[in-house]
Amino acid sequence: LCPSGALGDNEDKPQLLFQEDACLQCGICATICPEKAITLKPQLELSDAALSQRVLNEEEPFACVECGALFGVKSTVEKVVEKLAGKHSMFANEKAARMIQMCDKCRIAAQYHSENNPFAMGTPRRVRTTDDYLAEGPSKRKDH
Ligand code: SF4
Repeated sequence: LCPSGALGDNEDKPQLLFQEDACLQCGICATICPEKAITLKPQLELSDAALSQRVLNEEEPFACVECGALFGVKSTVEKVVEKLAGKHSMFANEKAARMIQMCDKCRIAAQYHSENNPFAMGTPRRVRTTDDYLAEGPSKRKDH
């Protein structure tokens, strides 16, 4: 979203980074920030600090309750659990609610082994052939 790349994130940690000399003061970040946490301040920073990225915000990652892999942001996952666990029909039981706290790989594995496996397939439909068509007899055929 940031046209100049002045605002970036860290792929390994929940961090919001900012590099001042790359900022165009376009205001897109301030306009779209859902928390209204960004305001622009006109200034010209000439120190070396303006040339490197600094951390604007940093949070703790969440550890998957199954494998311990770090993913997402701890405060966000906890907020989602608080809002959905036991309150939303999809997360009504404890097993389903626990999936919110799993990384993508563990969540898919848990869904696959769950009672209502969304990946389960029924018996494949038999392919209809010309023989089936002919076996129905002329009364059901619509070719004449
Ligand atoms: S104002 Fe915000 S969106 Fe625009 S360049 Fe600066 S950091 Fe990026």
